[in-house]
Amino acid sequence: MKITDIKTYVTMPIEGLAWLFHEYNILKGMGYVSHLMSAIDIALWDIKGKVLGVPIYDLLGGPVRGSVPLYTHVQDQSQPFSIDDMVAAAKRTMADGFDAIKTDPFKSQREMGPDFRGASMVERLTPKAIAEAVEWMDALRETVGPEYELMVDAHGRFDVASAIAGARALEHVDLIWYEEPTHVESDEALQQVRENTNVPLCIGERHFTRWDYVQVLENRLVDYIMPDVAWCGGISELRRIAAMAEPRYIRVSPHDALGPVAIAASFQTCMAIPNLYREECIHTWFNDFEKIITPMFDVRDGHIHPSGKPGLGIELIHEEVARYRVDVDDTRAMPAWSNPRKGANGRWYTVETAGESGKG
Ligand SMILES: [Mg+2]
Repeated sequence: MKITDIKTYVTMPIEGLAWLFHEYNILKGMGYVSHLMSAIDIALWDIKGKVLGVPIYDLLGGPVRGSVPLYTHVQDQSQPFSIDDMVAAAKRTMADGFDAIKTDPFKSQREMGPDFRGASMVERLTPKAIAEAVEWMDALRETVGPEYELMVDAHGRFDVASAIAGARALEHVDLIWYEEPTHVESDEALQQVRENTNVPLCIGERHFTRWDYVQVLENRLVDYIMPDVAWCGGISELRRIAAMAEPRYIRVSPHDALGPVAIAASFQTCMAIPNLYREECIHTWFNDFEKIITPMFDVRDGHIHPSGKPGLGIELIHEEVARYRVDVDDTRAMPAWSNPRKGANGRWYTVETAGESGKG
């Protein structure tokens, strides 16, 4: 966090602390530690594989599939994207060979202007917002056809009543899952949604280490889980969490909103996970990935195919990586969810864009 952020928070009334808590919920209680653990764990697996001359999936018991299916994104419903923009993106995505798409059809209900003094960031969905979400998803379903696999991400934003209302309104769309309907601190809120909708549920990008999953799995609160290999504790922890879910018939779909090292680490693990659904990616970022890794992932027909190379199967091109280096105090290093220049489908930044100003 930047010093300027701290000054803002300490001058806000006490409700600002709830804002701070929810703004950084991507880290939850143990996030700082599990993020660090993940980086070390992934590096150690890479080193071991490269020393032994085998892919990491061979060290995890060997491949259980020939390739790893992906899902990707179209725009979320937010400015400046229109339904026509989203439909055009969905058509391009289908033409690129991907057969599963995720989107967030719910416009932000936060009023986060400079005078914001709300008690928290728990959003209430208005009837208008729900109607707009239905319109968004109906247009997407009509574009892709009845068999295409669609997911909705609620980004852990809603109060329970809104989460239930949103889920019920979208039941006819036949979703694979409805993701993080409520704020992630409360299993009770998730259970209340679970008991009041027929839409399959998914959580996990804000759940870290095997201990975070115990209650969720034992109480069967979801149908899918989505640990992030770079946040949950690494390849070792992702493999353990998947094993916990397997006997409960809950499928794993590793989250990803990061870079090619995380994609590679997820891929290596997914090759050895029996209860895999799909690995997440944002395929429009692949053009940037191929500038900084070698060899680039072999992406065909919406799958990553293994190269057979040892460790993570990739090497970073360090002189190219340096072009993307961003100082921690730079506005471009702000979390994606509070940086309007760095949304889920935003572009990557290079040193050539360093003069451009971001938020704040
Ligand atoms: Mg998500």
